[in-house]
Amino acid sequence: MTTPPALVIFDNDGVLVDSERLSNRIFAELITSHGLPTTFTEAVERYMGRRTTDCVADIEAQLGRPLDPGFVGAYEARCAETLRAELTAVDGVVDVLDRLDAAGVPYCIASSGTPDEIALRLAVTGLADRFGDRVYSGSMVARGKPAPDLFEYAADRMGVAPGAAVVVEDSPPGVVGAKAAGATVIGHAALLPAGRLAEAGADHVVTGMTQVPPLLGI
Ligand SMILES: [Mg+2]
Repeated sequence: MTTPPALVIFDNDGVLVDSERLSNRIFAELITSHGLPTTFTEAVERYMGRRTTDCVADIEAQLGRPLDPGFVGAYEARCAETLRAELTAVDGVVDVLDRLDAAGVPYCIASSGTPDEIALRLAVTGLADRFGDRVYSGSMVARGKPAPDLFEYAADRMGVAPGAAVVVEDSPPGVVGAKAAGATVIGHAALLPAGRLAEAGADHVVTGMTQVPPLLGI
């Protein structure tokens, strides 16, 4: 019988909310229109899980010139419009949160999104009240995922050593960052094959959130 952890840290996009298939389509289209031809699959492979600011730096290095100053605003506006209309919570997430509450296990969010992006996603899917102010953004730390900073920050704010936390992540940069922080990692293989998350260092890999409770002992 697995003993429940002292803390569960959830990534948001692709773990709690099913946003990645929508946002990566928009991101690929927008990058392509700004001069860097990119498919949906290439966007998932290269940019998923990272802060938009870090993605922009990567794209500008590939282009050898700055992106249009309106790029980030246009991306965020198109995402907001689409997500308001189409975003849903990932299947099984509410049950996992209910079980954590019943077991008395604290949980929080560590997301590469900005506070506004995270708030929109939680509001649209009805998850905001489940997390309250236990929401930590990549904009709150110096280095985004795959650095360990955000996971260390979130664990510290929750009063738990990162090594005593379990992180649920769907992207290789997130898995790498969580492992670098010393956490145990459950990889949620949604858009990427399970093997990619295992290669990145995930201790367990699931293909749905319904498989998570037994791994948490809840
Ligand atoms: Mg994610």
